[in-house]
Amino acid sequence: MTIRQKVLLVEDSKAVQQIYRNKLTLEHFQVITADNGMEAIKALSSERPDIILLDLMMPVMDGYKVLQVVKTDPKLSPIPVLVFSAKGQPEEVEKALNLGAAGYIVKATTKINDVIDQIKTTISRKPVVQEVTRYEVGIRTDAYDAKRLAEDFKFGNFTCPACAAEMVLSLIPDFSHDTPWFSAKFLCPKCRV
Ligand SMILES: [Zn+2]
Repeated sequence: MTIRQKVLLVEDSKAVQQIYRNKLTLEHFQVITADNGMEAIKALSSERPDIILLDLMMPVMDGYKVLQVVKTDPKLSPIPVLVFSAKGQPEEVEKALNLGAAGYIVKATTKINDVIDQIKTTISRKPVVQEVTRYEVGIRTDAYDAKRLAEDFKFGNFTCPACAAEMVLSLIPDFSHDTPWFSAKFLCPKCRV
């Protein structure tokens, strides 16, 4: 018995979903579908696909956000993601590649057989551990804003509750926005949490 490879297909158009589901099933893939980004993230909490086919423009949560969640989660980041770009606009494609997409498919002009080939090639490629850039910024605890932050977040002067090391602010670039944007969290440089 061969183990069938699993594809998570994230696409809001039921018609496109149906076409790809049929074709992928014929090609002996196991197919899970999600109608939007939120459903995709939910599916990923219990499923481990070999590849994700991801539409970018979707309601509720778009594909860029899904990419960001997947590529900044060490457990999910090895899963390759191919994005569906509607027309192949360079800015769409660049944003997706910046966020860690393994490749992209121009929906309007790519034949379904070429999509299947691209899926197979991408899965067989050795997984590249995608390094997502992060910045770690020290906090000036004597600065007024920092003091207020410490109070608002109930921090004991930005020290780690576990090891008492000084916390840093960890910034992860979020290319899903058109302006420079970061997601930020406080991080203990020793405990890494
Ligand atoms: Zn610590």
